[in-house]
Amino acid sequence: MTRAWNFSAGPATLPLEVLQQVREDLPEWHGIGASIMEVSHRGKAFSGVIEAAQADLRELLAIPEDYEVLFLQGGQTLQFAQVPMNLLAGRSADYLVTGAWSQKAHREAARIGKARLVASTEENGKFLRLPDIDALKFDENAAYCHLCTNETIHGVEVHEAYEAKLFEAISAAAPGVSLVADMSSHILSRPLDVRRYGLLSAGAQKNIGPSGMTLVIVRKALLGRAAAGTPTILDYRNQADNGSMLNTPPAFAIYVAGLVFQWLKAQGGLDAMAAINREKAKRLYAAIDNSEGFYKNPVDVACRSSMNVPFTLPSVALEAQFVQASEAAGFIGLKGHKSVGGIRASLYNAVPLEAVQALVRFMEDFRETWRRRGASR
Ligand SMILES: *Cc1c(COP(=O)(O)O)cnc(C)c1O
Repeated sequence: MTRAWNFSAGPATLPLEVLQQVREDLPEWHGIGASIMEVSHRGKAFSGVIEAAQADLRELLAIPEDYEVLFLQGGQTLQFAQVPMNLLAGRSADYLVTGAWSQKAHREAARIGKARLVASTEENGKFLRLPDIDALKFDENAAYCHLCTNETIHGVEVHEAYEAKLFEAISAAAPGVSLVADMSSHILSRPLDVRRYGLLSAGAQKNIGPSGMTLVIVRKALLGRAAAGTPTILDYRNQADNGSMLNTPPAFAIYVAGLVFQWLKAQGGLDAMAAINREKAKRLYAAIDNSEGFYKNPVDVACRSSMNVPFTLPSVALEAQFVQASEAAGFIGLKGHKSVGGIRASLYNAVPLEAVQALVRFMEDFRETWRRRGASR
């Protein structure tokens, strides 16, 4: 068996232990005579799986009792519509645009109702920083304030200190307004104070499990505000009242996510993951910053993402060579997003430190080869 060093942005690598457990559980799960994806979602076996997944997630994120945990479908992209359908209630919402994903969220909300742009950090088509919190003017009457806490394409992340300051600022300026966040690409990478949010959501395929499941954590007090005409299945309250099983849930994805939650607990929980993730990011950014400008990451140092690290080389041709050579050397998933080009390494929870060490060595070797070629010309 040869598993590559996988830096894919999503769907992304899963822990090998989890894949091995899945293999063991197929084709027969715990003596039920079938795999878990072949039995009723209303039966005892699957009920146990979804309940355990929820309990483990609640423990990992210390989710308070007054929050619902929903396992839905449609990806984070559906949340860009489902959030305004459920929470706008005829009002306007505030949007912070800090990259491609929050921009999509803002545009989608504007199709549904009133979505006000509080700030955009776009400059010459680039997103390199987070807005200055002291300069933000929140709408006191907004239904909510939306942000993306980790911009997967542009590599801009809301870290703990910025998050705490933003929460304090909005609590002071607009006390009734809840933060709503797209956390798709960094949820579970560090501990989180769920209470700072009215709602947070994440497509599973980055840091949770396979694609097909979307996690929504929502304060119970925000349920029951869906606009008239909202389809039954898109009203969060209906899903909450039915344990995320208004219809057939993405059973297999929930089962694998449950195994990932157990794996995270076995690693020592989110404090332990945060420490490993910090170390991985530190090493990769050091390799970029110490390359005498050969590799470049232009994002403001304070909000560089520890999950998605985009970087460039001196030319597009060299970037293509880099991707090709990396694949020959046993790496996959390093090509940058098509909208921005360059290279991107995603360092999700399931990417081990050894993978980052291998990547750093590869980057040093690649640059050394290039330097020697230049010298011999
Ligand atoms: C991947 C991603 C999305 C889109 O998720 P889908 O599940 O494909 O709809 C949205 N937001 C962020 C931050 C992402 O990383």
